[in-house]
Amino acid sequence: MWRPLLHLARRAPSAHSLNHYLVHTRLPRSSLALRRRVHSEPLAETSAWWGAPGTVYYDGASTHADSILTHEHGALDETRRALRDAVRRFAHDHVAPYAALIDASNRFPREQLWPRLGELGALGVTASPEHGGLGLGYTEHCLVMEELSRASASVGLSYGAHSNLCVQQIERHGTAEQKQAVLPRLCRGEWVGALAMSETGAGSDVLGSMRTVARRERVASATASAVSERWVLNGGKMWITNGPDADALVVYARTPELDMADKPAFTAFLVCPRALDGADAGRSGYRVAQKLHKLGMRGSNTCELLFEDVRLPASAVLGEPGRGAHVLMSGLDSERLVLSAGPLGIMQACLDVVLPYVAQRQQFGRPIGELPLMQAKLADMYATLSSSRAHTYTVALALDTAMRESGASGAARLRTYRRDCAAVILQNAERATQVALQAIQALGGNGYVDEYPAGRLLRDAKLYEIGAGTSEVRRILIGRELYETVRSS
Ligand SMILES: Cc1cc2nc3c(=O)[nH]c(=O)nc-3n(C[C@H](O)[C@H](O)[C@H](O)COP(=O)(O)OP(=O)(O)OC[C@H]3O[C@@H](n4cnc5c(N)ncnc54)[C@H](O)[C@@H]3O)c2cc1C
Repeated sequence: MWRPLLHLARRAPSAHSLNHYLVHTRLPRSSLALRRRVHSEPLAETSAWWGAPGTVYYDGASTHADSILTHEHGALDETRRALRDAVRRFAHDHVAPYAALIDASNRFPREQLWPRLGELGALGVTASPEHGGLGLGYTEHCLVMEELSRASASVGLSYGAHSNLCVQQIERHGTAEQKQAVLPRLCRGEWVGALAMSETGAGSDVLGSMRTVARRERVASATASAVSERWVLNGGKMWITNGPDADALVVYARTPELDMADKPAFTAFLVCPRALDGADAGRSGYRVAQKLHKLGMRGSNTCELLFEDVRLPASAVLGEPGRGAHVLMSGLDSERLVLSAGPLGIMQACLDVVLPYVAQRQQFGRPIGELPLMQAKLADMYATLSSSRAHTYTVALALDTAMRESGASGAARLRTYRRDCAAVILQNAERATQVALQAIQALGGNGYVDEYPAGRLLRDAKLYEIGAGTSEVRRILIGRELYETVRSS
């Protein structure tokens, strides 16, 4: 299968030497060829709700705050630019025209977009090529996340949950068999991925208050005297992005029998609902409860999941039994970083709406863009986006570099970036809400009606101050990490 981003990634000798590659190789004009290929087939009209395309507020080729990235000393070498351009064009043509419809209908465009994103190669940016991924780093992952979120923040959120929260955790902690069984399907977009950590009573204090429990059970084999082991899962998870559609989920549970002294133990499981015992007869004990109706991010489906005596084979454990807290914590830094590119895309989308509007809207006999106060607003929006983008990609590059360093020094350096990943998403999330408010203000009455997307951008932006950890918890983490540096010196 032709997968444009994979094709691009393969042009680099390895994901580790993209800069070397840039210096020593001249890329052909690959992104044009990619665009032609990706756009050659029209989107399938696979279900009735998928209506006519709507307005797109940017031209698909340029953006208004890229200079920090495209500068020769910036984060983007030629390969990354080509990757970003390919995703940008895809998002412009196949996602942005449907953003308002996805929001209004609150429907997840699985059939319309997921196989397409798989074909593009975007669903497994950091997964290994052996399992259908691109084998690239967090910088590239952020670029894809930003461009999709610019076109539709809710598609971006579902994309982040699929490609980072689920795919990346399986890539990092899965066995060869687990990876082979699920990653190619997730990377092709045949399957949708999710991560289930939060519970109705366990959000910020997710480990301290977790009630979902897995207990080990021994079962005698019907054919031999051998005894095998399985896990029985009971409990519920709340606010799970992609939950209603998920074919593969990373699920965390308390495993009390593995507690060490008074230290509670957790285990991560790879759950594939269709493969569960009794799934065919609808008696697996796995239930998608209510889909949640949200303020924003509509169309990125969120739900409660229930587990009632769900039987999992021993091979469903992700990582080691009792090491679930490690699996969970080790994924949070990259989760914060990759998701922080979501608010970047929203801020860019705000500029995409406001800039043409202020040039066209006339008051007092001239375009409102000529009014000094309106120009000041543009300046604030631009400065906020540019500095957020520079911060994000600086941390992404640093994380990618540390990931490549093996041994203790790499691990130690990675650890120091925890506060930076938290700082990036803290800032980007709060700034995106502010920039969306400025977009509404710049549009006046039109900012307050659904015919323009500014209100949707505000509703979508607010999620990033709550989901993947709240602003308060991020501040606590950053403050604690910083204080540790002086306390221990
Ligand atoms: C749209 C959406 C998608 C989500 N997707 C997923 C998903 O895919 N998977 C998943 O596992 N979870 C998901 N979540 C859950 C998300 O991670 C939690 O909502 C988040 O961690 C906050 O938990 P909570 O909602 O229980 O709030 P609470 O923890 O109850 O917090 C309520 C308030 O108290 C504050 N607070 C809590 N503790 C402290 C403290 N120590 N000091 C100061 N203030 C504090 C919080 O900041 C917040 O303002 C999603 C949530 C949403 C809304």
